[in-house]
Amino acid sequence: MHKYNGNYAHLKKPEAIAKAFVQQRLQVAEVDISSCVSDAGRPFDHVYFQQRMQDIEIVNADIAVHLNKKGVIIAHSSNAYKGHASSVRWPELSIRDMIIQQQEALVKFSDHIHRPITRERIGVRRLPIMDGNAATFEVTGVLYAFGAVRSKQVYIQSNHGVLQPAWEFVINTGINYFKAHLSLDGKRVLNVIDWAWTASYSAVPVGFSHVVESGGLRLMTSPHLPDASHRGWHRAGREEKQTTMGNNAVVTIDADEATNQRRLAPISTTQDFRFTYDGRDPDPRANAMASITNVFYVINMMHDIFYRYGFNEPAGNYQQNNFKRGGLGGDAIVAESQVGWEEDNAFFIAREDGVNGLLGLGLYTVNGRKYDLGFDNDVIIHEVTHGLSSRLVGGPAKADCLNAPDSRGMGEGWSDFVAIWTRMKGDDRDDREFRVGTYATPDGLRDYPYALDKHRNPLTYGSIYRDKQWQDEHDIGIVWANILYQMYRNIYHAMDGRFSTDFTTASIEHSNTYTMQIIIDSMQLMPCNPTFIHGRDALIAADAERSDGKYKCEIYTAFAKWGVGAKAKRRKFTLPLMSKLVESNSLPRDCKDYAHLIHAPTTGGFRGRKK
Ligand SMILES: [Zn+2]
Repeated sequence: MHKYNGNYAHLKKPEAIAKAFVQQRLQVAEVDISSCVSDAGRPFDHVYFQQRMQDIEIVNADIAVHLNKKGVIIAHSSNAYKGHASSVRWPELSIRDMIIQQQEALVKFSDHIHRPITRERIGVRRLPIMDGNAATFEVTGVLYAFGAVRSKQVYIQSNHGVLQPAWEFVINTGINYFKAHLSLDGKRVLNVIDWAWTASYSAVPVGFSHVVESGGLRLMTSPHLPDASHRGWHRAGREEKQTTMGNNAVVTIDADEATNQRRLAPISTTQDFRFTYDGRDPDPRANAMASITNVFYVINMMHDIFYRYGFNEPAGNYQQNNFKRGGLGGDAIVAESQVGWEEDNAFFIAREDGVNGLLGLGLYTVNGRKYDLGFDNDVIIHEVTHGLSSRLVGGPAKADCLNAPDSRGMGEGWSDFVAIWTRMKGDDRDDREFRVGTYATPDGLRDYPYALDKHRNPLTYGSIYRDKQWQDEHDIGIVWANILYQMYRNIYHAMDGRFSTDFTTASIEHSNTYTMQIIIDSMQLMPCNPTFIHGRDALIAADAERSDGKYKCEIYTAFAKWGVGAKAKRRKFTLPLMSKLVESNSLPRDCKDYAHLIHAPTTGGFRGRKK
């Protein structure tokens, strides 16, 4: 073994000294100098190496050597591959096999970033230039890429020091600049680097109720869905905003309560919005930047999720720039954290398409302690869902189609339902109860929990009419959201518990995502100022469209159980007046087989379709 004498200074040039050190002392035989930073005005030189094997680049095998001006090595770092040089080899492949592998790999990668493409469109052409012994290629037909995709053969080293051959692709999508590595069979994405700026947010992940339930803030890195926000969350025009402003949302706080003139927001030139949340600090201002960041994250996340379920530009969503995809722009959601210092409130003002939605999140005071609703995802999601329902019901040009008593209640009910929907789990049972807004009030904001058991939530459609006590829109909303919860559970059982843990997918093959899909479809299918009966029929129509009416009786049974059965009657009023209502538990003739479910024991009573 070569003995290192600590000084190769006789070799003079820093590159030569460093290379001798790497090959003799570090015993890494095959290396290329990838760069040398040598500046007469600075005290150190830096030489960077790329390890190769059989003259093919090894990804994740970087070496750096740092020298002083006397040629003495003062520091070095290496994660070179340490295994035997001949232990792994690229297999001998025909060009045709190489092309097929790359097509498979690109289909896989495109699914991975949620921009699926078909294999047939992908053209792969070998380039005359070699990179050492590695063949290089040009790929066309990747629809979301700007210009041609470049690819080549590489080796990749895993974190555990295991080496394998891989395909490397360099893909520019406009907002991302990916360098991706895939296994030869195209089945596994081994590594993805995005050269574009990533944005990070300390936030309560959508899927948790609030900051205490999530165990504090978590770092979310580039959470945006590229198909829904294709320029990311910080860019409406050419310029990238270095604060909580962008195409879908502008979030600030009022810095000066007296004048309402000066607004504050976090600033980051690298889109790195990291803050801590201190739950013990009694002064909400101490957590203001974290609050703004979370509100910005949740509004944007919901924009992207709703987008996938159909709340896009033509449907009237909230975006500053609609990128010529239809609908009216100029209407990002303008939100404020810690609004109205003394008020226990949150609000959303929804107007027609083309007018900004306004969201305010206040401080909720309990026993003298102020809870910042900007950390309560249930509340934020509830409010932005008002923005969704008021644009979808009656069309984007009208935001006044949720004004009759049932309709106002449906608006509230959808908002609660979407909040609890993000929190559902695949192994939930029928006896799971949901409460919303439990950050400030442990029992939640509603008089009853969402529950399928009538002993735990007794409110039915008839309660609205019979008892003045239940005529507030939030109480009517309890009935509506609970019917939707029941409907979801019925569909869940009919689908044998198929559940998608990624609720952004809008998959119609899974019960939770299917439920959200038909709910959002139904909003567009019902009349202005709908009653619960219109709402039921619109869901049935949406189901007929999406799956040939496969779940009609699951939907009907949920409604009939809670009083909106086949014989239910309601006079439609456009004014906020209570009109006559007839409750019904009956089913249409073609769902008669489901009658036993209406009066069945309310927990665990649903076991799929009756044969
Ligand atoms: Zn509300």
